[in-house]
Amino acid sequence: MSTKDFIEKDYYKVLGVPKDATEAEIKKAYRKLAREFHPDANKGNTKAEERFKEISEANDILGDPKKRKEYDEARALFGNGGFRPGPGAGGGSFNFDLGDLFGGGGGQGGQGSGGFGGGIGDVFGGLFNRGGTGGTRVQPRRGQDIDTEVTLSFTEAIEGATVPLRMSSQSPCKACSGTGDKNGTPRVCPTCVGTGQVARGSGGGFSLTDPCPDCKGRGLIAEHPCLDCKGSGRAKSSRTMQVRIPAGVTDNQRIRLRGKGAPGERGGPAGDLYVTVHVDAHPVFGRKDDNLTVTVPVTFAEAALGGEVRVPTLGGPPVTLKLPPGTPNGRTMRARGKGAVRKDGTRGDLLVTVEVSVPKDVTGKAREALQAYREATAEEDPRAELFQAAKGA
Ligand SMILES: [Zn+2]
Ligand SMILES: [Zn+2]
Repeated sequence: MSTKDFIEKDYYKVLGVPKDATEAEIKKAYRKLAREFHPDANKGNTKAEERFKEISEANDILGDPKKRKEYDEARALFGNGGFRPGPGAGGGSFNFDLGDLFGGGGGQGGQGSGGFGGGIGDVFGGLFNRGGTGGTRVQPRRGQDIDTEVTLSFTEAIEGATVPLRMSSQSPCKACSGTGDKNGTPRVCPTCVGTGQVARGSGGGFSLTDPCPDCKGRGLIAEHPCLDCKGSGRAKSSRTMQVRIPAGVTDNQRIRLRGKGAPGERGGPAGDLYVTVHVDAHPVFGRKDDNLTVTVPVTFAEAALGGEVRVPTLGGPPVTLKLPPGTPNGRTMRARGKGAVRKDGTRGDLLVTVEVSVPKDVTGKAREALQAYREATAEEDPRAELFQAAKGA
């Protein structure tokens, strides 16, 4: 059934009641007809089944004062057969120009400032998303967001890595093609008329919606629930995906990969994938924001006299650092551009901390030289300032 049919369809006629019938009259007429054409009472009679569907559908609309009002308004606006969907209609969304209908100014979507405003939006929102008798033309649904974790090596985190992620997610049930119905012909949910959402009241030009409680937001109700998925239309599926983790992630960072979550349903977009990254420690390098850190041992002679010191980098050739004469223990120097990769592709720095190493055992010529050095510096008291300061305080 097309939307045009829907507008043209006379639900009052279907139930055999006048246009000004009361709620009680509609209820009574529906009950009588439903009993008469119920499939249980008409086994194998497809005509009766069709009629029963039609009756249910009419009752869904006329039995609900809000939907009945929408229906009446839509029919009053477009008349019988006066409505013609524009080109491009039929794929589920409607494409027409309100300006044509209301003499301009309305614009697309009908939420303009004029007197029609929300009223027309309500009509279109309520009726045009409704779908057909078979209930196959309901709104697309976005796939679920998925949370997962991955552990990277220190280097992978700095450089970025493509890692396989095994994920389980909900996907449309294969047995029923995601309809939830054994025969693949679920009914459009009467509560939300297939939108999967119900209004939570509105104010000031926008309205809030909640997932429909009756169909759990699916827009469909399975009368003969699929045995595989028990009517949910969903199945658990697991898959392995190659996921690119960008360079420069830090331990416990949660990154979002747009569109890599569960696939959408009925043409809806996929959800997002959230990956919490754990990063293993490195035996040599550490990390401080965009910078890498490393501690480099130097001899007393190198620190005192100055010299050139080779320093390893992560994943690249070593760099040579000039140590100025008289470099104190613990001084940190900077090798520019040898750090972690930033978002913009540039790199932070490598922070090199100098650590004067003391030999455990000194023998031979080195021992002689060191003894001579001690004698040469016997006059100097390295603790003189310390004691001076201790006294002063
Ligand atoms: Zn619903
Ligand atoms: Zn199923």
